Amino acid sequence: MGKPPPRAGRGGGPATTIALLALVAAGVVWQLGQVVRARAMAEIESAGYQRLDLYAGTISTALEKYAYLPTVLTRDKNVRALLAAPNDRRRADLVNRELEQTNADAKSGYLYVLDAKGLGLAASNWAEPTSFVGHFYGFRPYFLQAAASGGGRYYGVGVTTQLPGYFIARAAMAGGTVLGVVVVKVDLEPLQREWASGGELVMVTDANQVAILSSRPDWKYGTLVDPTPEAAAAMTSTQQYANAVLHPLRFHEVERLSSDAVIVRATRHNYLMLSRHLPEEGWTIHYLGDLAPVEQRQRDATVMAAAASLAVSLLVLYLRQRRLRLRAEMETGAAVADALRRARDELERKVEERTADLMEAQEGLIHAGKMAALGQMSAAIAHELNQPLAAIQTFVASTRIFAERGDTATVAENLAMIDDLTRRMAEITGHLKTFARKTPGRRQPVSIARTVERALMLVDSSLRQDGVQVTRDIPESAWMLGDEIRLEQVFVNLLRNAADAMKGGEPRRLSVTVTDADTAFWTVRVADTGTGIAVADIDKLFDPFFSTKEVGQGLGLGLSLSYGIVRDFGGSIRAENNPDGGAAFVVQLPKAPPPQPPPPQPETAP
Ligand code: ADP
Repeated sequence: MGKPPPRAGRGGGPATTIALLALVAAGVVWQLGQVVRARAMAEIESAGYQRLDLYAGTISTALEKYAYLPTVLTRDKNVRALLAAPNDRRRADLVNRELEQTNADAKSGYLYVLDAKGLGLAASNWAEPTSFVGHFYGFRPYFLQAAASGGGRYYGVGVTTQLPGYFIARAAMAGGTVLGVVVVKVDLEPLQREWASGGELVMVTDANQVAILSSRPDWKYGTLVDPTPEAAAAMTSTQQYANAVLHPLRFHEVERLSSDAVIVRATRHNYLMLSRHLPEEGWTIHYLGDLAPVEQRQRDATVMAAAASLAVSLLVLYLRQRRLRLRAEMETGAAVADALRRARDELERKVEERTADLMEAQEGLIHAGKMAALGQMSAAIAHELNQPLAAIQTFVASTRIFAERGDTATVAENLAMIDDLTRRMAEITGHLKTFARKTPGRRQPVSIARTVERALMLVDSSLRQDGVQVTRDIPESAWMLGDEIRLEQVFVNLLRNAADAMKGGEPRRLSVTVTDADTAFWTVRVADTGTGIAVADIDKLFDPFFSTKEVGQGLGLGLSLSYGIVRDFGGSIRAENNPDGGAAFVVQLPKAPPPQPPPPQPETAP
């Protein structure tokens, strides 16, 4: 019987469970955080793209609103006349006023007219100190583009005004020749102010990746990437940003979500930066959504999920512990049941074993009982036959003497006695046969007085030898119904026991009395002056083989046989001690009417 194999693959120890739970909980918490974050990001993203669309729209609207102005002005006859005669002061004055008026009406930034070389001929700000008239702009890209291709667009900081703006230029042509260029400078600062007032972070970078518009003033003229040396040289030559100081924005890319969506870290904040290219201007408009609220939401959700996971984990642990405990209890119960079953099996086995032992013992006892019965019977036979045998021996001895003397009369008397004794012996064996057949003995009227006399005669020699004084008081009417021989056996036993009990002491008196106290029974009392009976022995006297006598002196069968005989008669026998010493045996015998005296027989000659 080996130990049960260790359980495998069933959960392992509590440490494993806790680790597993912690891992699952962490996974769930992390996943939840991601979901919350993704959702918040999606919200910001969709709002951001909407804003981008809106701002891109406002930019193009703001620009296109003024794009027609230079075109219209190139066809203006006064402008064309001025271009034809640049030195005509009067014309210039006329155009100046006209530009001033138009600019005021259109609410554009500046309107001005350059000659074919790029020199300012007339301007809407002719009257101001920063007037463009007389200044040279031939190096500015919008002029160069317009002179070359008819139209030019350009963002730049005004070299004269130091104000940023968007320049839209259109060339006035005559045949294939450029007469001059009309320019409108659009002020974008109001747009920027609008964004800033909305509290949103919007930024427009130009082709150089320089932030030319920004709702945050400190980001303006910031660079997303450091300009290449060539780009830097070009900026200087065109004075695109005039005196503005360019500075790196230091946006660190944290995560790129798509080509136009990226998470950047700037000024200790994370932003979702959405970008849209504006192909017309070559710009890119950026919308920056602050991720701090998203992160806050993610943190909140994580904390809540962690708390919930902890609660669930504790619950799971509790349930697992409970299940383990229940299982342990069930296993204990099963073990107890198993132990009980085994104990019961063991008990049954032992009971069977003991039963077998008992059966064996019983068989042994039965055998021993049979042997004892055999012994008892042999002893009984020997006991009963020894008395008449001894008497016969005595008679034979005396007969021989009388025969030698020739006393034939006494010889005949003795022979008759011997004959009587042998007949009695035959009766005893006959009785034993009856006993063996378990049939009750004969039932006929028996004279108690006569039977006592015969018994006394049988034990007479030993009584006389011991000098026992015998008295008897038996009415002649005392007859009982039974077997004379067997009754005689009873008396012989009682008389012999009395003689034995009186052997070593004085006085030696034996009395046999029959009284008539009961209507149905004679009470026979055989009393002696012997040792009496020990109180402890009084109940055992009638047991077979109970004897206090020395080995060889008594077998302990006399009273046992007597008890059986008296009981067969329907009577009883008991022992008691006499008040003044000695024992008494009281025999109750059923009464029988004395038989009618037989009719007188005719005398026969001896
Ligand atoms: P046994 O005479 O062979 O011993 P009994 O059955 O006749 O067997 O007697 C049993 C015992 O009863 C005796 O051994 C004796 O102790 C006791 N007993 C019988 N009769 C008397 C008596 N008259 N006085 C004292 N004891 C007696």
